[in-house]
Amino acid sequence: MDQVICLICLKEYIEELSFRTYFSQEPIMCDDCSRKFNYEQVRRCSHCNKKLLPDEESCIDCLFMKELFLPLDDIICLYDYDDWTRQLIYKYKFRKDIVLAEVFARFFKPHIKRLDYDMVIPLPSSSEKIHERGFDHMAEVVKRTGITFQTPLKTKHRAKQAGLTKVERLKDSNPFYIEGEIAKRVLLIDDIYTTGLTVHRAAEVLRNENVTEVKVLTFARV
Ligand SMILES: [Zn+2]
Ligand SMILES: [Zn+2]
Repeated sequence: MDQVICLICLKEYIEELSFRTYFSQEPIMCDDCSRKFNYEQVRRCSHCNKKLLPDEESCIDCLFMKELFLPLDDIICLYDYDDWTRQLIYKYKFRKDIVLAEVFARFFKPHIKRLDYDMVIPLPSSSEKIHERGFDHMAEVVKRTGITFQTPLKTKHRAKQAGLTKVERLKDSNPFYIEGEIAKRVLLIDDIYTTGLTVHRAAEVLRNENVTEVKVLTFARV
């Protein structure tokens, strides 16, 4: 047994064998922290994984999105966006705790490996955001999985989404553009899936470049 420091809570802990076996890699977080990641087994939309209300027959988000975009080929969300994952993502993105990229990478890696695609692309940040944060938060995560990825998808800086209404967000033009070669089947990696508007916009730009398949893998589902 080894004494290690948890990257999330920074407590020293004795590594439990079960966890090492699960990841078959060096331990990076304690069992207490690892148990806090949750994905509720409730009725969800079979396409976008949104939790459905008891009386909800079909997913309104998907109906709405279908009016505007071609559907994504697959949407995979690993955990619920709850207090735990929200705080973790906040610590990573806004308190700039770059070491947490290792934690996200550890969870993403087995899923990226099992999926079928020609090219992995992390959702890009604008150069302004990268400058402000000091790192490109999704590229940093994918880099730490050790899996080959490309960054031909770029984004322009734009007004903060939170301050805009749904209609204003839609009127806002697509911020994504392509620089470089793109493969036919793309796997996009992002941190949070909320309405899905961002990834659908990214997919639209990719499809304009003759991409035939766009799958999305996100860490947390709102
Ligand atoms: Zn911990
Ligand atoms: Zn849906």
